[in-house]
Parts: sequence; C-alpha cells; structure tokens
Amino acid sequence: MTLDPKDWTDIRTLGHHMLDDMFDFLADIKHAPLWRSPDTAKSLLLSALPEKASSLNAVYEQFQNTILPYGSGNLHPGFMGWVQGAGTPVGMLAEMLAAGLNANVGGRHHMAIAIEQQVVEWMRALFGFPEHAQGLFVTGASQANFVATLLARNRALGLATRNNGVAAAGKTLVAYASCEAHGCIPRALDMAGIGSDQLRKIKIDDQYRIDLTDLKAAIAADRKAGLTPFMLIGSAGTVNVGSVDDLDALADIAEAESLSFHVDGAIGAVAMMSRQLKPLMAGIERSDSIAFDFHKWAHVPYDAGFILVRDGAAQKAAFASDAAYLTRAEKGLAAGDWWPCDYGPDLARGFRALKTWFTLKAYGTDALGASMVENCRLAQSLADKIVAQPELELRAPVALNIVCFSYVHTHADILNKYIVEELHMAAEVAPSLTILNGRPVIRAAILNHRTTMNNIDTLVNSVLALGRTLSAAL
Ligand SMILES: *Cc1c(COP(=O)(O)O)cnc(C)c1O
Repeated sequence: MTLDPKDWTDIRTLGHHMLDDMFDFLADIKHAPLWRSPDTAKSLLLSALPEKASSLNAVYEQFQNTILPYGSGNLHPGFMGWVQGAGTPVGMLAEMLAAGLNANVGGRHHMAIAIEQQVVEWMRALFGFPEHAQGLFVTGASQANFVATLLARNRALGLATRNNGVAAAGKTLVAYASCEAHGCIPRALDMAGIGSDQLRKIKIDDQYRIDLTDLKAAIAADRKAGLTPFMLIGSAGTVNVGSVDDLDALADIAEAESLSFHVDGAIGAVAMMSRQLKPLMAGIERSDSIAFDFHKWAHVPYDAGFILVRDGAAQKAAFASDAAYLTRAEKGLAAGDWWPCDYGPDLARGFRALKTWFTLKAYGTDALGASMVENCRLAQSLADKIVAQPELELRAPVALNIVCFSYVHTHADILNKYIVEELHMAAEVAPSLTILNGRPVIRAAILNHRTTMNNIDTLVNSVLALGRTLSAAL
C-alpha cells in the first residue's frame, strides 16, 4: 500500500504554506524571543504511539504551536551560548531537497556519491592536502575525532589490531593534547579501546595554547616508562576560549617523535576560508588528519561533521569490509570505486554533502569567511568594552570569536552563574557559563552570522544591570 497521496493537490498546497511559514520565521527571527521554556508545550504534545492517521494539517498545526517556537535559540542573533551554527535559508532548502531524494550515501553508483566526492576534493584544496587524501562526512567532530583516533591506533599497532584487538599488541598507547582539549578526545580514546586515561592533558601557556616544553617532557617521560606515545592532537579553536595551538610547532614535534598529528578543528578549521584568519591555522596543512564541523562556523544545518585524512589508503584499510552484500559490480548501479562505507563506521548515511555543497556554492567561501571575520571583530569589540569597564573583567585572551569574562565582585563566581541564568530567562542574549582555572566565567561565543553590535551592546548592558541588582541582593 503506497504512502503517496492519491491526489497531490492538498499536500502541494500545504507544502508551499510550510515553506512560506519557515521563510517568515527566519526573516523575523531577531524579533522573536531567543528562548521560551518548552515545558508547557511538552505536556501538550506527548501522546501514545499513534496507530491511526491524523490529517497532515493537524500535525503541522501542532508543529507550529508546540515545536517551532521552542527552539534552543541558536538561530537568534543574540545567541552566544556554547558553540552552535545558526543555519541559513539556503541550507534549509538544500535539506528539503536532500530529504526528497532520500539518498542512501553509503555506496553504489549515483550522483550523491559524486557530490560528496566533490566536497572532499574542495576540502583537499582548502587545507592544501594531497590528491591521495580522503575525507568523509560524519555526524560531527566528536565522530571525526574518533575516526582519527582509530587511524592513529592502526598506524601505531598495525592493521592486525582490527582483528586481534588492542591488547594483543602488548603496548600501552598514549596520546597528547592540551588540558583545554574537548571532552570528545578522551572519549575517542575510550571508544578506540585505548582508554581515556591514556590522554596526557598538557598544561597551557598564557594564551591557552598547549605548552610545548611540557609536551616534550611528557612524551620523554612516557617513553622512559616504556609506554608508546602514538598521537598528538592540536586544537584549532578550543571550545572554552577559542585558542589555537601552535600547529606548526606541533607538526615538528609529531614528526620528530613519529606520532600521528591530528587537529581538532571543530570550530576553527573552517576559518581557512578567510584569507585574514587563515594565518592563525598555519601548520594545519601538515597534519595527518583534521576533524571539523560545517554545522558550526560554516552554518550548514545540523549535522555536518567532516574528517579529512592525508593517507586515504590507510582510511580505507581501517574500515573497508568484504561483506557479500556490499560486492562491487563492474558496471551499473552497484559499480563505482568510491563507497563512503569504506571510509568510516557508518553504512547507511544521509546526503549531508548536498546541504554543504549548496552552502559553499550559493554563498562562496569568501562570504562565509567574511562572516567569520565579522564575528571576530565583534568579539574583539566586546573584549575592548570589557577591558574599558571597571565592573567587568576579561578572563581569557581572545584569539578568535570567543570572549570569557566576569562581573567583578568578591562573589563573582556565584554572580556569573546567576547572571547567565537570568539572561537565559530574559531571552534577549544568551551567553553560556564555563569554568576557567576552576572558576565560573561568562562565555560569549560569537558565531552567528546574524549577530551585530546591537547584540553585543545588549549583552554588556544586561550583564552590568544584572550584576548590580544581583550583587545588591547578596
Ligand atoms: C563542538 C566541538 C567538538 C564536538 O563536535 P560535535 O560536532 O558536537 O560532535 C569537538 N571539539 C571542539 C573543539 C568543539 O568545539
């Protein structure tokens, strides 16, 4: 029994309405509250498994009333919390087209595969990687970092590890990253069977970059203890403060120590699209692999993570399988020599490449890069305002687009927490709270292409007003 309508008239009309409604929603986003509590809507929406059909109009009405208004705010220009992409109308349209095609981009011989290959080729060019490099869309940088960890593990222990397991090699692998590295790095080591405790969290310098002297000392100490250093992870934009490690120096150390050199560029790697920001990433082109997200600073709709790998053959050797149902044909639909399922953990995969292809083509890397530069300029202005305002204190250097600061007070820790919570409730601007050197700070990640100086002014004025009111009540 087909699920297609007998007559397409009604769904066509409703579909056009949906599209118009979403354009209106996006066009007016800055006038809407940044956030509303979903609690009431949740109680209205939750129901038993639907056995009987509802009219699509009624389902859509529920969407409009109880889902659409209750987002997490990341589209709003006042959103500065965590590190989240803002999406674009182009990405939205491309996502609809991809859903219409319902392509399974695990393999076989069809155009969706070619589009993903095209994006891989563009990424080779963007990062100056060689022709034999490979790449793949994954859910996000968490998954990309995991893939990179498996590749580094295989390089250190040999491909037999895929069959024999890590223990059979009789070696204790050790990886290195700064103490500011993202939490998915220790988890990647955990998932790869190496163990999260085998990550050495190296201290940072005053710019929040990995301390090179400590790094070298840690590698030497581990070798002396009979352990096997195998992987060095550099950060291109740390999640807390946006610092970028000295990637060139890390490449030198990795080379001298025969370590796999991986870059977690979840936030910052796409800054390669900007001529102005690219120099900050110097050395990234020497890495063995790069994990990054199109869904953060390049605003491709969630999810669109990516792993780029210098040694493409090694990537294939890490994942390819000879399962009978994946047999390649000489010609026809089951042909094709590039099957994504050979390069990563997933078999069935969506067409993430299409929304990325559309975004890159429709905006161009110049405009995407310019939007990142503008974010950095706003972050710098915010930092300047904080430095000029005695009631506020800058708590970390600003390398890219993230500003960590505090309300100045003897009880600053609790005040910062209250201020951020009150800002979220007021829903005009939303920074987040993070912990730096053991103390809570207000963190504004300026990522949104819709954010302007007005939003920065609102943030500063609101923090000051709340700081004064809340501290008086302490
Ligand atoms: C966001 C982030 C990650 C994780 O990326 P996901 O896309 O959320 O999986 C990893 N590293 C850094 C530095 C990040 O900012």
